[in-house]
Amino acid sequence: MRIGRRMEGLAISDIRSMTRACDAVNGINLGQGVCDLPTPPPVALGAKQAIDEGRAIYTQPEGIAPLREAIAKKLEARYGLQYDARSEVVVTAGATGGFAAACMALFEPGDEVLMFEPYYGYHYNTVVAMGLRPVLVPTLPPNWGFDAEAFDRAITPRTRGVVLCTPSNPSGKVFSPEELDAIGARLEAHDLWAITDEIYEYFVYDGATHVPFATRPRARERCVLLGGFSKTFSVTGWRLGYLCAPEAAARAINVCNDLLYVCAPTPLQWAAVAGLAMPAEYYADLQRSYAGKRRVLCDALRDAGLEPYEPQGAYYVLADVRALNKRTAKEASMAILERCGVASVPGTSFFVDPVGETLARFCFAKEDAVLDEAARRLRAAKW
Ligand code: GLN
Repeated sequence: MRIGRRMEGLAISDIRSMTRACDAVNGINLGQGVCDLPTPPPVALGAKQAIDEGRAIYTQPEGIAPLREAIAKKLEARYGLQYDARSEVVVTAGATGGFAAACMALFEPGDEVLMFEPYYGYHYNTVVAMGLRPVLVPTLPPNWGFDAEAFDRAITPRTRGVVLCTPSNPSGKVFSPEELDAIGARLEAHDLWAITDEIYEYFVYDGATHVPFATRPRARERCVLLGGFSKTFSVTGWRLGYLCAPEAAARAINVCNDLLYVCAPTPLQWAAVAGLAMPAEYYADLQRSYAGKRRVLCDALRDAGLEPYEPQGAYYVLADVRALNKRTAKEASMAILERCGVASVPGTSFFVDPVGETLARFCFAKEDAVLDEAARRLRAAKW
């Protein structure tokens, strides 16, 4: 039987297949950003209570009011951003679900969507699966800057929007206010949408600051801001995220959200309300703890001969795997897995550019003891 043509060339990503390969050898998974740290007690308790109280039925597609209110309150307190909890906030099935719903609602088949390379594969492949065309603007190591002229050249009459992932998965790039404004000026000139994936908002290092694109002048009206709880509360399997957008866009996106998922899991929405009530120290501790993990992994990679590009944000490190002398990044990742039982993701999952063949992505969202063991094994391997 025939399969939809949009799916030609699309397969389950290497992020997932490396997890399978890792499980097969009982390795340490620094590939997929699984983030298997303990769930914060108030969040876990919130979910248990909601289940015990029988909060088991559908919510409105946009989610429960207390959660939308808590999200709006947080964005206002942290960034001075104002969104109407009733009409401009939608709770989604993860940022991934929010992204799919936004692409479905805002774009039409054949439209072009810009994204920065290296890109998060789910952004790229979701765009393709929706019948849209991803168009890449390179950002280059070590600073992951981009050329404004390359951005201009990428814009065509079919361009409808840009995907901005900051802090970026996989490079860790944190877009500066100046960069956001350079992008904003172009979006304004061509009347384009920005879909900003900010799920790593709390993961920034070395004094870097996360600035939401929507806080920049005139940006809010053309922006769909995506966030989520997976990383912040270490609940990647809960599939719980949110988006904020101007009312008309939020309404259309919510129709897609309803069609795709009906609503985000009800008891987990209540748990997120409890999570958002945690004090500011929670986030300060999170940041400190991840800064330490980043140091452990980067030092080990360097000692192993896999030069890391130290990230400013998120919880991944792209490292140079040329020392392994393999033909492809996939071969290099597999060789690292075989030799030390540590999984990574081949750089080609994030690049169309051949530089992807020289890189692998390692995740440091792991418990300290596990990360220390991975570091020990990498060091012992030494390429
Ligand atoms: N965001 C995570 C990553 O980049 C998980 C992706 C996934 O499994 N879909 O690894």
